[in-house]
Amino acid sequence: MDTGALADRFARVKAAVPAHVKLIAVSKTRSAEEIGELYELGHRAFGENYPQELRAKHPALPADIEWHFIGHLQRSNVKHVAGITHLIHGVDDEKLLDELEKRALPLGRPVNVLLQVHIAQEETKHGFAPDELRTLLQQPGVLERWPHVRIRGLMGMATNTVDRDQVAGEFAMLAALFNSLAAHVPFPAGQFSELSMGMTGDMDLAIKAGSTMVRVGTAIFGDRA
Ligand SMILES: *Cc1c(COP(=O)(O)O)cnc(C)c1O
Repeated sequence: MDTGALADRFARVKAAVPAHVKLIAVSKTRSAEEIGELYELGHRAFGENYPQELRAKHPALPADIEWHFIGHLQRSNVKHVAGITHLIHGVDDEKLLDELEKRALPLGRPVNVLLQVHIAQEETKHGFAPDELRTLLQQPGVLERWPHVRIRGLMGMATNTVDRDQVAGEFAMLAALFNSLAAHVPFPAGQFSELSMGMTGDMDLAIKAGSTMVRVGTAIFGDRA
C-alpha cells in the first residue's frame, strides 16, 4: 500500500477530530502490515469487529496497541477477546454482561465496556432499546451484579442514510440518554464518561452532538475490499 497516501488521509482525519475526542482507527479487514504503518505514524488505538481477526493480529503487532472491540460480540467469544481488549464497545444484553463478569474474574482486572444502544431506524443494528436500558440501569443495586465489569459509557450507530438531520437527531437522542444516565445512575465518579459515536460518514455530526470517541475506518485506510 502507498504509505504517503495513508499518511495524508490520516493527517486529514486527525485534523478533523478535536483533542478531547479519541480517534479509533477501524482496522477490520486490514492487514497487520497496514496497521503497522499507522502505528509507525504514531497511532495506538485500533478497532476490530471480528474475534478471529483480532486474535490473529494481536500477537503480530506491538503490545502497546490499545485494541477496541467494536463488533457484535457473542457470548461464546467473550473468553477470546476480554483479555486482549482495552474497551468492548458493543455490549447489548444482560447475559453478555453476566458472561463478561465471569470472564473478568480470572483476569484479575476489570473489563471495560460500553453499552450499545439501538438508535437507528434499521432492523439490522444491535443494541438495547433506550427505554429498556433506562429501566435496567435504574433498578436499585443493579451495578452490583457485575462488580468486575466497568460500564464506561454508551455506543451507538446512526442510520445509514443521506438524511443528515435524521442522523443528527439520532446522535442527539443518544447524547441525551447518556447525560440522563450519568446523572441518575450511581456509577463511581468519573467512570461513566465515554460516548462512542461517529464513523467516516457522520463523525462531524457525532462530534457536534458530544461524541468522545469516533470509530473511523474508510477515511483513514481507504475503501474496504
Ligand atoms: C466498520 C465500522 C466502523 C468504521 O466504518 P467507516 O465507515 O469505515 O469509518 C465504525 N464502527 C463500527 C461498529 C463498524 O463496524
